[in-house]
Amino acid sequence: MPLQFFSSPAPHIEKIFRTCYVSLALPERKQQKLQEKLEKVPQPVVFLNLRDAQCSECGAEIAQGSMLLMEADQPLCLHCARFGGLEFLPAGDTALTRRY
Ligand SMILES: [Zn+2]
Repeated sequence: MPLQFFSSPAPHIEKIFRTCYVSLALPERKQQKLQEKLEKVPQPVVFLNLRDAQCSECGAEIAQGSMLLMEADQPLCLHCARFGGLEFLPAGDTALTRRY
């Protein structure tokens, strides 16, 4: 779902906020980097749930302290977000990270 700047639908205002202007004096290398950054597909972000929630797709309970993915302002359990088979590896243990 694309990022929306305003809660009410106002396409002409959304277009103003989405328009990017680049100086023609910007070096070609920096222009290429900027173009690559704008075309990059956003990565999914998983959150640690701070309070009990319910999956908007399957209706399963998402317990406090477990992970969820927000899609269109609706919580999804990891199974419905197709992350069910993945394991979270916290940062800090490089030996464990290398094994997986
Ligand atoms: Zn679910």
